[in-house]
Amino acid sequence: MQARNYVAPSSIDEAVAALQAGNGANRAFAGGTDVIIQVRENRRAVDTLVDIKSIPELIGITHKPDGGLRLGAATPCAQIYRDPQVKARFPALVDSASLIGGVQIQSRASLGGNLCNSSPAADSIPTLIALGAIAEIAGPSGRRNVAVEDFCTGPGQNVLQPGELLVALEFPSPAANSGAAFERFIPRNEMDIAVVNAAANITLSADGSTFQAARIAIGAVAPTPLYVAAAGQALAGKPVNDDSIAAAAEAARAAATPITDMRGSAAQRKHLVGVLVTSVLRTAIDRARG
Ligand SMILES: Cc1cc2nc3c(=O)[nH]c(=O)nc-3n(C[C@H](O)[C@H](O)[C@H](O)COP(=O)(O)OP(=O)(O)OC[C@H]3O[C@@H](n4cnc5c(N)ncnc54)[C@H](O)[C@@H]3O)c2cc1C
Repeated sequence: MQARNYVAPSSIDEAVAALQAGNGANRAFAGGTDVIIQVRENRRAVDTLVDIKSIPELIGITHKPDGGLRLGAATPCAQIYRDPQVKARFPALVDSASLIGGVQIQSRASLGGNLCNSSPAADSIPTLIALGAIAEIAGPSGRRNVAVEDFCTGPGQNVLQPGELLVALEFPSPAANSGAAFERFIPRNEMDIAVVNAAANITLSADGSTFQAARIAIGAVAPTPLYVAAAGQALAGKPVNDDSIAAAAEAARAAATPITDMRGSAAQRKHLVGVLVTSVLRTAIDRARG
Protein backbone atom coordinates (compact mmCIF):
# COMPACT_ATOMS: atom_id res chain seq x y z
CA MET A 1 0.00 0.00 0.00
CA GLN A 2 1.10 3.60 -0.66
CA ALA A 3 -0.07 6.66 1.23
CA ARG A 4 -2.85 8.15 -0.90
CA ASN A 5 -2.54 11.82 0.00
CA TYR A 6 0.05 14.36 1.08
CA VAL A 7 -0.55 17.66 2.85
CA ALA A 8 1.94 20.22 4.18
CA PRO A 9 0.26 22.42 6.78
CA SER A 10 2.02 25.60 7.91
CA SER A 11 0.68 25.76 11.47
CA ILE A 12 0.29 23.37 14.39
CA ASP A 13 -3.50 23.86 14.43
CA GLU A 14 -3.71 22.88 10.74
CA ALA A 15 -1.51 19.84 11.35
CA VAL A 16 -3.62 18.71 14.31
CA ALA A 17 -6.78 19.12 12.19
CA ALA A 18 -5.21 17.14 9.33
CA LEU A 19 -4.14 14.33 11.68
CA GLN A 20 -7.51 14.28 13.43
CA ALA A 21 -9.37 14.08 10.12
CA GLY A 22 -7.83 10.65 9.48
CA ASN A 23 -9.16 9.15 12.70
CA GLY A 24 -5.82 7.39 13.17
CA ALA A 25 -5.13 6.70 9.46
CA ASN A 26 -3.19 9.95 8.83
CA ARG A 27 0.38 10.20 10.06
CA ALA A 28 2.91 12.91 10.69
CA PHE A 29 5.81 12.93 8.25
CA ALA A 30 9.05 14.52 9.49
CA GLY A 31 12.21 13.19 7.81
CA GLY A 32 10.28 10.20 6.48
CA THR A 33 13.21 7.83 7.10
CA ASP A 34 11.00 5.45 9.07
CA VAL A 35 7.48 6.16 7.85
CA ILE A 36 8.18 6.06 4.09
CA ILE A 37 9.78 2.64 4.41
CA GLN A 38 6.94 1.36 6.58
CA VAL A 39 4.35 2.52 4.05
CA ARG A 40 6.28 1.11 1.09
CA GLU A 41 6.71 -2.26 2.79
CA ASN A 42 3.01 -2.41 3.80
CA ARG A 43 3.97 -2.36 7.46
CA ARG A 44 1.80 0.67 8.12
CA ALA A 45 -1.47 1.66 6.44
CA VAL A 46 -1.49 5.43 5.94
CA ASP A 47 -4.16 7.46 4.20
CA THR A 48 -2.55 10.92 4.31
CA LEU A 49 1.03 11.88 5.15
CA VAL A 50 0.99 15.16 7.05
CA ASP A 51 4.36 16.83 6.33
CA ILE A 52 5.24 18.84 9.43
CA LYS A 53 8.47 20.42 8.18
CA SER A 54 6.78 23.65 7.00
CA ILE A 55 5.65 24.47 10.54
CA PRO A 56 8.17 26.98 11.93
CA GLU A 57 7.80 25.85 15.58
CA LEU A 58 8.73 22.28 14.65
CA ILE A 59 12.13 23.09 13.16
CA GLY A 60 14.91 24.76 15.07
CA ILE A 61 17.09 24.89 18.16
CA THR A 62 16.50 27.38 20.98
CA HIS A 63 19.02 27.90 23.77
CA LYS A 64 16.98 29.37 26.59
CA PRO A 65 18.14 32.09 28.99
CA ASP A 66 17.98 29.61 31.91
CA GLY A 67 20.42 27.28 30.11
CA GLY A 68 17.72 24.87 28.94
CA LEU A 69 17.34 23.66 25.36
CA ARG A 70 14.30 23.39 23.11
CA LEU A 71 14.45 21.27 19.96
CA GLY A 72 11.66 21.52 17.39
CA ALA A 73 10.45 17.94 16.95
CA ALA A 74 11.26 17.80 13.21
CA THR A 75 14.73 19.37 13.43
CA PRO A 76 17.14 17.16 11.45
CA CYS A 77 19.89 15.35 13.37
CA ALA A 78 22.62 17.08 11.32
CA GLN A 79 21.37 20.51 12.37
CA ILE A 80 21.47 19.38 15.99
CA TYR A 81 24.97 17.90 16.05
CA ARG A 82 26.43 20.84 14.10
CA ASP A 83 25.13 23.39 16.60
CA PRO A 84 28.16 24.71 18.56
CA GLN A 85 26.24 25.16 21.82
CA VAL A 86 24.66 21.71 21.60
CA LYS A 87 28.16 20.30 21.04
CA ALA A 88 29.53 22.14 24.06
CA ARG A 89 26.65 21.68 26.51
CA PHE A 90 24.74 18.57 25.38
CA PRO A 91 27.39 16.22 23.94
CA ALA A 92 25.26 13.13 24.60
CA LEU A 93 22.76 14.49 22.05
CA VAL A 94 25.63 14.68 19.56
CA ASP A 95 26.58 11.07 20.42
CA SER A 96 23.05 9.95 19.50
CA ALA A 97 22.24 12.25 16.57
CA SER A 98 25.53 11.48 14.80
CA LEU A 99 24.96 7.69 15.05
CA ILE A 100 21.48 7.59 13.52
CA GLY A 101 22.05 6.26 10.00
CA GLY A 102 24.64 7.93 7.76
CA VAL A 103 24.99 11.57 6.69
CA GLN A 104 22.09 11.38 4.20
CA ILE A 105 19.74 9.98 6.84
CA GLN A 106 20.97 12.50 9.43
CA SER A 107 20.15 15.35 7.06
CA ARG A 108 16.47 14.38 7.19
CA ALA A 109 15.88 12.24 10.29
CA SER A 110 14.62 14.00 13.41
CA LEU A 111 14.78 13.12 17.09
CA GLY A 112 11.02 13.68 17.22
CA GLY A 113 10.60 11.00 14.54
CA ASN A 114 12.98 8.68 16.37
CA LEU A 115 10.92 9.10 19.55
CA CYS A 116 7.49 8.84 17.87
CA ASN A 117 8.55 5.74 15.92
CA SER A 118 9.12 4.28 19.40
CA SER A 119 11.47 1.45 18.49
CA PRO A 120 12.85 -0.29 21.60
CA ALA A 121 16.30 0.07 19.94
CA ALA A 122 15.98 3.76 18.95
CA ASP A 123 19.31 5.51 19.38
CA SER A 124 18.10 8.83 20.72
CA ILE A 125 15.58 7.72 23.33
CA PRO A 126 18.00 6.59 26.10
CA THR A 127 19.79 9.94 25.75
CA LEU A 128 16.52 11.90 25.88
CA ILE A 129 15.57 9.98 29.03
CA ALA A 130 18.97 10.41 30.69
CA LEU A 131 18.88 14.16 30.00
CA GLY A 132 15.41 14.44 31.54
CA ALA A 133 13.74 15.58 28.31
CA ILE A 134 10.07 16.51 28.24
CA ALA A 135 7.92 15.86 25.17
CA GLU A 136 5.58 18.77 24.38
CA ILE A 137 2.49 17.47 22.59
CA ALA A 138 -0.26 19.42 20.78
CA GLY A 139 -3.64 17.90 20.08
CA PRO A 140 -7.35 18.60 19.66
CA SER A 141 -7.65 19.30 23.41
CA GLY A 142 -4.66 21.64 23.60
CA ARG A 143 -1.09 21.05 24.79
CA ARG A 144 0.31 18.61 27.30
CA ASN A 145 3.75 17.57 28.48
CA VAL A 146 5.00 14.00 28.98
CA ALA A 147 8.38 12.97 30.40
CA VAL A 148 10.19 10.99 27.70
CA GLU A 149 10.61 8.00 30.03
CA ASP A 150 6.79 7.72 30.06
CA PHE A 151 6.31 8.29 26.30
CA CYS A 152 6.81 4.81 24.81
CA THR A 153 4.31 2.15 25.80
CA GLY A 154 5.42 -0.82 23.67
CA PRO A 155 7.29 -1.63 20.45
CA GLY A 156 6.15 1.06 18.00
CA GLN A 157 3.55 2.27 20.51
CA ASN A 158 3.40 5.49 22.51
CA VAL A 159 1.11 7.87 24.38
CA LEU A 160 0.15 9.94 21.29
CA GLN A 161 -3.58 9.86 20.66
CA PRO A 162 -5.19 10.32 17.20
CA GLY A 163 -4.78 13.97 16.21
CA GLU A 164 -1.80 14.54 18.51
CA LEU A 165 1.54 15.86 17.34
CA LEU A 166 4.92 16.08 19.08
CA VAL A 167 5.87 19.74 18.92
CA ALA A 168 9.19 19.95 20.75
CA LEU A 169 11.61 18.34 23.15
CA GLU A 170 12.58 20.45 26.16
CA PHE A 171 15.76 19.82 28.16
CA PRO A 172 16.66 21.32 31.52
CA SER A 173 19.94 23.17 31.83
CA PRO A 174 22.82 20.77 32.57
CA ALA A 175 23.72 20.96 36.28
CA ALA A 176 27.14 22.23 37.37
CA ASN A 177 29.74 19.42 37.35
CA SER A 178 27.53 17.20 35.23
CA GLY A 179 28.32 15.09 32.18
CA ALA A 180 26.38 12.76 29.91
CA ALA A 181 27.16 10.19 27.22
CA PHE A 182 25.50 7.65 24.90
CA GLU A 183 26.87 4.49 23.26
CA ARG A 184 25.50 1.51 21.40
CA PHE A 185 26.75 -1.91 20.39
CA ILE A 186 26.28 -3.04 16.80
CA PRO A 187 27.88 -6.15 15.33
CA ARG A 188 29.60 -4.33 12.44
CA ASN A 189 30.98 -0.89 11.71
CA GLU A 190 28.25 0.00 9.22
CA MET A 191 24.75 1.34 9.83
CA ASP A 192 22.82 -1.17 11.91
CA ILE A 193 20.19 -1.49 14.61
CA ALA A 194 21.55 -1.44 18.16
CA VAL A 195 21.91 -4.80 19.89
CA VAL A 196 22.00 -2.76 23.10
CA ASN A 197 22.37 0.96 23.75
CA ALA A 198 22.79 3.03 26.91
CA ALA A 199 22.99 6.60 28.14
CA ALA A 200 24.07 8.14 31.43
CA ASN A 201 23.82 11.65 32.83
CA ILE A 202 25.68 12.22 36.10
CA THR A 203 26.27 15.11 38.46
CA LEU A 204 29.42 15.09 40.61
CA SER A 205 30.35 17.01 43.75
CA ALA A 206 32.34 20.22 43.15
CA ASP A 207 35.63 18.37 43.76
CA GLY A 208 34.59 15.59 41.36
CA SER A 209 34.98 12.84 43.98
CA THR A 210 31.34 11.86 44.66
CA PHE A 211 28.25 11.14 42.60
CA GLN A 212 25.46 13.52 43.58
CA ALA A 213 22.84 12.31 41.11
CA ALA A 214 22.58 10.10 38.03
CA ARG A 215 20.04 9.16 35.39
CA ILE A 216 20.68 5.98 33.40
CA ALA A 217 18.66 4.59 30.49
CA ILE A 218 19.10 1.49 28.33
CA GLY A 219 17.61 0.35 25.02
CA ALA A 220 16.95 -2.81 22.96
CA VAL A 221 16.57 -4.91 26.11
CA ALA A 222 12.84 -4.51 26.83
CA PRO A 223 9.63 -3.66 24.91
CA THR A 224 10.47 0.05 25.38
CA PRO A 225 13.63 2.01 26.12
CA LEU A 226 14.03 1.82 29.91
CA TYR A 227 14.75 4.47 32.52
CA VAL A 228 16.59 2.54 35.26
CA ALA A 229 16.02 4.64 38.37
CA ALA A 230 17.71 1.98 40.55
CA ALA A 231 20.98 2.39 38.65
CA GLY A 232 21.00 6.12 39.36
CA GLN A 233 20.08 5.51 42.99
CA ALA A 234 23.02 3.09 43.28
CA LEU A 235 25.35 6.00 42.51
CA ALA A 236 23.83 8.90 44.45
CA GLY A 237 26.10 9.84 47.36
CA LYS A 238 28.71 7.21 46.45
CA PRO A 239 32.40 7.82 45.71
CA VAL A 240 33.46 7.93 42.09
CA ASN A 241 35.23 4.57 41.85
CA ASP A 242 35.01 1.16 40.16
CA ASP A 243 32.79 -0.35 42.88
CA SER A 244 30.14 2.38 42.52
CA ILE A 245 30.15 2.06 38.74
CA ALA A 246 29.90 -1.74 39.00
CA ALA A 247 26.87 -1.43 41.33
CA ALA A 248 25.09 0.86 38.84
CA ALA A 249 25.93 -1.48 35.95
CA GLU A 250 24.56 -4.42 37.91
CA ALA A 251 21.32 -2.53 38.66
CA ALA A 252 20.92 -1.83 34.95
CA ARG A 253 21.60 -5.48 34.08
CA ALA A 254 18.93 -6.53 36.60
CA ALA A 255 16.36 -4.23 34.95
CA ALA A 256 16.97 -5.56 31.44
CA THR A 257 14.54 -8.20 30.12
CA PRO A 258 15.98 -8.85 26.65
CA ILE A 259 14.87 -11.36 24.06
CA THR A 260 17.01 -13.54 21.82
CA ASP A 261 16.78 -12.64 18.13
CA MET A 262 18.92 -12.59 14.98
CA ARG A 263 21.00 -9.70 16.38
CA GLY A 264 21.96 -11.26 19.70
CA SER A 265 21.02 -13.62 22.49
CA ALA A 266 19.36 -12.54 25.71
CA ALA A 267 22.51 -13.52 27.62
CA GLN A 268 24.74 -11.45 25.33
CA ARG A 269 22.43 -8.47 25.69
CA LYS A 270 22.43 -8.71 29.50
CA HIS A 271 26.23 -8.81 29.42
CA LEU A 272 26.36 -5.83 27.05
CA VAL A 273 24.14 -3.74 29.32
CA GLY A 274 26.84 -3.98 32.00
CA VAL A 275 29.62 -3.20 29.51
CA LEU A 276 27.84 -0.19 27.98
CA VAL A 277 26.61 1.31 31.24
CA THR A 278 30.16 1.10 32.61
CA SER A 279 31.50 2.76 29.48
CA VAL A 280 28.97 5.61 29.32
CA LEU A 281 29.49 6.30 33.01
CA ARG A 282 33.25 6.61 32.49
CA THR A 283 32.75 9.02 29.56
CA ALA A 284 30.17 11.01 31.53
CA ILE A 285 32.62 11.31 34.46
CA ASP A 286 35.36 12.58 32.13
CA ARG A 287 32.96 15.12 30.65
CA ALA A 288 31.75 16.24 34.09
CA ARG A 289 35.35 16.82 35.14
CA GLY A 290 35.84 18.91 31.99
C1 LIG B 1 19.33 3.61 6.32
C2 LIG B 1 18.70 3.91 7.66
C3 LIG B 1 19.49 3.88 8.79
C4 LIG B 1 18.94 4.13 10.04
N1 LIG B 1 19.75 4.09 11.15
C5 LIG B 1 19.23 4.30 12.37
C6 LIG B 1 20.06 4.24 13.53
O1 LIG B 1 21.27 4.01 13.46
N2 LIG B 1 19.47 4.45 14.76
C7 LIG B 1 18.14 4.72 14.88
O2 LIG B 1 17.68 4.89 16.00
N3 LIG B 1 17.33 4.80 13.78
C8 LIG B 1 17.84 4.59 12.55
N4 LIG B 1 17.03 4.65 11.44
C9 LIG B 1 15.60 4.93 11.61
C10 LIG B 1 15.21 6.43 11.40
O3 LIG B 1 16.13 7.09 10.56
C11 LIG B 1 15.14 7.17 12.75
O4 LIG B 1 14.23 6.55 13.61
C12 LIG B 1 14.77 8.65 12.55
O5 LIG B 1 15.14 9.38 13.70
C13 LIG B 1 13.30 8.88 12.26
O6 LIG B 1 13.09 10.27 12.11
P1 LIG B 1 12.21 10.86 10.91
O7 LIG B 1 12.17 12.32 11.12
O8 LIG B 1 12.73 10.40 9.59
O9 LIG B 1 10.81 10.18 11.23
P2 LIG B 1 9.58 9.86 10.23
O10 LIG B 1 9.90 8.67 9.40
O11 LIG B 1 9.13 11.09 9.55
O12 LIG B 1 8.50 9.47 11.34
C14 LIG B 1 8.66 8.32 12.15
C15 LIG B 1 7.36 8.05 12.89
O13 LIG B 1 7.11 9.07 13.84
C16 LIG B 1 5.92 9.77 13.51
N5 LIG B 1 6.24 11.18 13.73
C17 LIG B 1 7.34 11.84 13.27
N6 LIG B 1 7.38 13.08 13.77
C18 LIG B 1 6.29 13.22 14.54
C19 LIG B 1 5.77 14.29 15.32
N7 LIG B 1 6.42 15.46 15.43
N8 LIG B 1 4.62 14.09 16.00
C20 LIG B 1 3.96 12.90 15.91
N9 LIG B 1 4.40 11.85 15.21
C21 LIG B 1 5.56 12.01 14.52
C22 LIG B 1 5.59 9.44 12.08
O14 LIG B 1 4.18 9.48 11.83
C23 LIG B 1 6.13 8.02 12.00
O15 LIG B 1 5.21 7.11 12.54
C24 LIG B 1 17.56 4.41 10.16
C25 LIG B 1 16.75 4.46 9.01
C26 LIG B 1 17.31 4.21 7.77
C27 LIG B 1 16.44 4.28 6.56
